[in-house]
Amino acid sequence: MKRFQSITIKQLALAIVSAMLLSMALLGGYMLLQAREVTASFQQHQREAAHAELKSRLDQLLTDTDKQATQIANWEETHRQWSHTGQHERWRDQRVYEAGLLHRGTAALALYAPDGLILGALSGGWPLRLTTPSGTPSGAAWITQDDEVPTLYRAFAIHNPGNKTRLEGYGLIRLDVLASLRNQTFHFIDPDSLHLKLSPGETLDPASLASRVQLNTRPDAEQARYQAIFSRTLLALFVLLGTTALAGYWLYDRLLVKPLRQLSKDLDDMQQSDQPKEPRRPAPQPIAELDNVRRSLYDYQLQLRELHNTLANQNKEFHSQARHDALTGCHNRRAYEEDWKDFMSKVESTPQGVAFLLFDCDRFKAINDTYGHAKGDRVLCIIADALVMALRAHDRLYRLGGDEFAAFLSRTTPAQARQIGQRCQSLIDAARFTDLGIVEPVGISIGVAFCDMHAQSSLDELPKQADIAMYTAKQPGHQRIAVYGEDTEAGSQTLVANRETSALFQALAQPGMIEMHYQPIHALPGRQVAYYEALARIRYHNQLLMPAAFLPVVSSRRLETEFDLAVLQQVDADLTNARLPEGCGISVNISAQSISRPEVVSTLMELSRHTARHPLMLEITETSLITQMLEVRTYLDLLRTVNFKIAMDDFGTGYSPLRYLVDLPVDIVKFDISLIKKLEETSRASQIVSDFARMMKDAGYSLVAEGIETEVALTRVQALGFAHVQGYLLGRPKTLDQLDTSVPHTIA
Ligand code: C2E
Ligand code: MG
Ligand code: MG
Repeated sequence: MKRFQSITIKQLALAIVSAMLLSMALLGGYMLLQAREVTASFQQHQREAAHAELKSRLDQLLTDTDKQATQIANWEETHRQWSHTGQHERWRDQRVYEAGLLHRGTAALALYAPDGLILGALSGGWPLRLTTPSGTPSGAAWITQDDEVPTLYRAFAIHNPGNKTRLEGYGLIRLDVLASLRNQTFHFIDPDSLHLKLSPGETLDPASLASRVQLNTRPDAEQARYQAIFSRTLLALFVLLGTTALAGYWLYDRLLVKPLRQLSKDLDDMQQSDQPKEPRRPAPQPIAELDNVRRSLYDYQLQLRELHNTLANQNKEFHSQARHDALTGCHNRRAYEEDWKDFMSKVESTPQGVAFLLFDCDRFKAINDTYGHAKGDRVLCIIADALVMALRAHDRLYRLGGDEFAAFLSRTTPAQARQIGQRCQSLIDAARFTDLGIVEPVGISIGVAFCDMHAQSSLDELPKQADIAMYTAKQPGHQRIAVYGEDTEAGSQTLVANRETSALFQALAQPGMIEMHYQPIHALPGRQVAYYEALARIRYHNQLLMPAAFLPVVSSRRLETEFDLAVLQQVDADLTNARLPEGCGISVNISAQSISRPEVVSTLMELSRHTARHPLMLEITETSLITQMLEVRTYLDLLRTVNFKIAMDDFGTGYSPLRYLVDLPVDIVKFDISLIKKLEETSRASQIVSDFARMMKDAGYSLVAEGIETEVALTRVQALGFAHVQGYLLGRPKTLDQLDTSVPHTIA
C-alpha cells in the first residue's frame, strides 16, 4: 500500500498503457493461434480433396484406357492389320491417332499375334513377345517403370468380328501415367507436383496406384484471401489499439498529469515560500474542475498575501506603538532600553565621543497638581516637541517616564552637547505655556555626561553620571544645566559622602539590607487584625534608617522602581517562608512612578499567588505624581482581577487626590494622619473631615484611618463608619520576630 502511494500519476498512466499493450499482444497471439488452426484445417481439407481428386482422375484414366482398348478391339481397321501387315507401322503410328483412339505423346499401341509375337517392325522399346504379370494377356493391366517413366500397360484380346470365338491377336496400350494425368484438369492438385517413383523391375497393380502417387496441393485462393483479410484486420486492430493507447496517454498526460503536477508544484511553492511572492496568475486549464481549483488556489494565495501584508503592516504599527509614547509621540522607555543596548554594542567602532543628556521638567508635580492632569499632559507634549526640535535631526528623544526625557548623541563633543542642551532650554523658555493658562515659568534641568571613546571610559556609567549631573543642575542657584565631571565635581563628592545615599545604593545592591516592619491594621468594631502594612527600613551600620531619611534620595535619584522591586522581593520572601500568620492580609506600598512600570506589575502578579493565604492590598502613595493615567488604570484593573485591593494612600495630602480617586479603580481610601488629627479638634476643619468621610463612605469606598494614637480618635472614626484603623494606639510597626501573632485576626 505504501509503495502504491508513492507511484506518480505518470507512472500509473504508463502502467495502464503498458497493460493495454500487453493485453493487445496476448489477444494478437491468441488470434494468430486461432488463425494457424484454421489454416491447418484448411490444408487438411485441401489434402483430402486432392487425394480424392487424384483417385477419381486415376479411375477415369483406367476407365478411358479400357474404353480405348474396347474401341481398338472393335475397330474394323484393327482386324485388317493381320492381313495387311505392310501398312501396319503407318496405321499404328499415325492412323490410330488420327482416328482419335489414342492421344499422341502420352499413349501408344502395339499389336501382337495370337502366339504373342509383336506385329510389325519393332520400335519404341515394345516387348517382342507379349508377357503379362498375371500370365494372361487378355484384360491385364500393370504399371512398370520404363526409362524412369511410370508407364501403364493395358493388354486386351482382339477377336474376329464375324466369329467372336476366333482370336485374332492381342493389343497392348502403353500409357505415360504422369503425362496423362497432367493433361487433366485439377482443382486441388498442382499437376506439376505429381510424382511416382517405382523400384527397378517393380510391377504395380493399377488399383494401388493412387496410394503411390505423390502430390502437392494447389494453393487455396480462399484460404489465401481469408488469411490476407485476417492479417489486415489484425494489423488494423493493432494499429487502432496502439494509436488509441498512445493518444489516450498523450491526452491523459496533457489534460490531467501536467495540470495536476503544476497544481502540486504551486501548492509546494505556497507551502515553502516564507516570503510572500507575487502569485503567478494561472494559465487556463483545459479541464474545468482543475481550472476551478487553480483559480481558487490563486485567489487563496492572493488573500494570503493580502493578509500577510495587513499583518506585516499591523505588526509594524504595533511595533512602532510599542516603542512610542502615546502622549508625546516620542520614543518610550522600552525603545530607550533596546536602543541604548544596541548603541552600546555598536558604538565601539565610532571614533568620536558620546554624550548622554537627561532632561527633567522643573516643578512639574506642582503644575500637575495645580492645573490638572490634562494640562500637565499638554506641558509634557510642548516640552517633548521643543526637545525634538533642539536635538540634531538624527538624534532620538526618549521619554523615560513622568516628566523625565533622555537622548544619547554620538559623534559629539562636550561643548557641542552643552550647546545642544542650552538650545533645548532656550526653546522651552520660548514656548508659550501661558496659552494653557499656566502663569508661572516652566523650565527644564539638564544633566549631561560625556564619554570620550579614545579615553576608553565606560559607556555603562553614562546614565548614572547624567543623573548625578541632573542632581547638580537641580540644586538651588545652579544654571539648570550641568555636565558631569565639569560642573559636578564637588556635588558628586557630596552625594557619595551622603549616608542615606550610600545606604540606599548598598541596600539596592543587597536587598537583604532592606528590613520589612509590619504594622497591624485593625478591623472595626472588633479591632481584630485584618492586614499588616509592610513598611520598609534600611539597616545600615547597625542603624535603622527610616523612610523619611532614604525616600527623598529614592525620589531625587528616580530609583522608585528599583526600590519598590527590592521591597516586593523582601515581602515575597517573608510570605513564602510563612513567617506571617496565615489568614491575615498584607498591604504593600508602591510609589506612583512604579505602578506604571510593567516589571513592577508583573512582580505584583507573581506575588498574588499568596492571596489564598494572605489577602493583598496595594497602597499607592503620591498618586498625584501619576502621569500615565491610561496605563495605570489598565494595570490596576488587571491587579484587581488577581484579588488585589487597591488603596489610595495618604488621602488628604497633595493638591488634587480627589480627581485621581475618580479616575482610578480604587477600593479603599486611607485618610492621612494629618486629617485624622483634625478630627480630635472641635474646629470647622474637624466638621469638614467628618462630612468628607461620610460622603466617601456613601460613595462606596472602604475607609482606613491612619495615625490613631488616642481612644478619642478611635471612637470618632468608628462613629464615622471607618472600616479599619491603624496607629500607635493599637500597634506599632514591628519586625517579624517581634510580631505578636497571637492577637485575634479577621479575614480581610
Ligand atoms: P504610609 O504608607 O502612610 O505609612 C504610615 C506611616 O505612618 C508609617 O511611617 C508609620 O510608621 C506611621 N504611623 C503609623 N501609625 C502612626 C501613628 O499612630 N502616629 C504617627 N505619628 N505615625 C504613625 P513610616 O514607616 O515612616 O513610613 C512613612 C512613609 O514611607 C509611608 O507612609 C509610605 O508612604 C512610605 N513607605 C514606607 N515603606 C514603604 C515602602 O516599602 N515602599 C514605599 N514605596 N513607600 C514606603
Ligand atoms: Mg502606606
Ligand atoms: Mg499613609
